[in-house]
Formats: sequence, structure tokens, C-alpha cells
Amino acid sequence: MHDDAPAPQCVICPRQLLDHEAGRFICTPCEYRIDRDLRAIAGPSGLYARLCLRITPGRGGDGPVVTRSAGHPMPCNEAVLSLTANGGIVSTLETWVEDWATYGLGVHGPGGRLQHRLDQAVATLRRNLGRAAYRHPALDEFGREIGQVVRQAEAIITGEKKPRVIPVQCPCGTITGVTLNTDGFTCRGCGTERGHSEALRLTPVRNAA
Ligand SMILES: [Zn+2]
Ligand SMILES: [Zn+2]
Repeated sequence: MHDDAPAPQCVICPRQLLDHEAGRFICTPCEYRIDRDLRAIAGPSGLYARLCLRITPGRGGDGPVVTRSAGHPMPCNEAVLSLTANGGIVSTLETWVEDWATYGLGVHGPGGRLQHRLDQAVATLRRNLGRAAYRHPALDEFGREIGQVVRQAEAIITGEKKPRVIPVQCPCGTITGVTLNTDGFTCRGCGTERGHSEALRLTPVRNAA
């Protein structure tokens, strides 16, 4: 018998699904990465709460105002507002909760304050992620959006600091500097193209001269 059918792959990374992952859309490491991203967003010390700390209530009661320190206007007012307001991160997550609900993966919780809604949405998604891995075909899109939220929030919170460059080594021996939000790169040594997650999976070089 000649079976050329390719082994099923994770819809996010190029990893082939292992025997114990049969029937899943994504591999276990990708599931863990998404879960870690979701966890990073929620809670009192999560990325969303830390973004909100940059906003104080407006005096006239006409909506939030982004705080300014000593006459230096923050460069990212608009970004902070659009991420933290209704329609921002909270709505992104709630839209996914509603979408997952149509697959029998959790239900949309009641309303409340934005932070409460966000925490609820994250809890619902995390609780159902394990089953979604088998049931939801658009986990690549989901994972990408959640990753984007995390990277955007982190970029604002860490301010204008340049992203840290991490030297990584390709199996061919060539060392390339990447950042955590790299879109990927093509190895100068062997020409291998790598996307974001593949690039970050390469071995970091600790003692680069
Ligand atoms: Zn994967
Ligand atoms: Zn290479």
C-alpha cells in the first residue's frame, strides 16, 4: 500500500500532529502559547488592566482622558483609548466568545464593567480552549488576533523602548537577530524562510560576542 496522504498539520505552525494529537486542529505547544497569551491579558495585573492604568476619568464626565506626565503628551493616547474602550480588546474577545458559542464552546456571560467583561471572556475562552483545539477550524485566526492584542499592549506598556533583539541560531549555523514581534525572516545562510512562531522557536544564542 502506498499512502501519500500528508500527515495532518497544525493549522498555526508547520508542526505535524502527533499520534496523541489526532483529530486536533492545532498542536499542543500552539494551544499552550494561546493560553499563555490569554492569561497575560486578563486579571488585575494583566495587560488590559495595565493599559487602563494609563487612563484617568475625565473631569467633565465625558469619557476617559489619557494621563499626561509633566507636560509630555503620551505618544500613544489614541492607541490606548481604542484598545481599552468598548469596541477594543474587550469586544475582540467577546466576539470570539460568541463565535465559539456557536460551536458549543461556552456561553457569553452577562455584562458589567469592562475589566469584568474582559476577565469573563478570557476565562470562558481558556476554559474551552482544550475542546476548541478539536472543534474550531479558525484557531489560526484566533491565535493571531490574541497574539496581536498581546504584542500591541506590550508595545504600549513598555513605551518607546526599542524591542529587545534576540540572537537566534538557524540549524545551518547562521545567527540572526530577531525581536519578539518579528514577522519572520529568511536565513542568510541557507535561505530557509521562517514565520513569526518558527523564528521564535529557534535556539537563542546566549553568549553572542
Ligand atoms: Zn502548532
Ligand atoms: Zn539557515
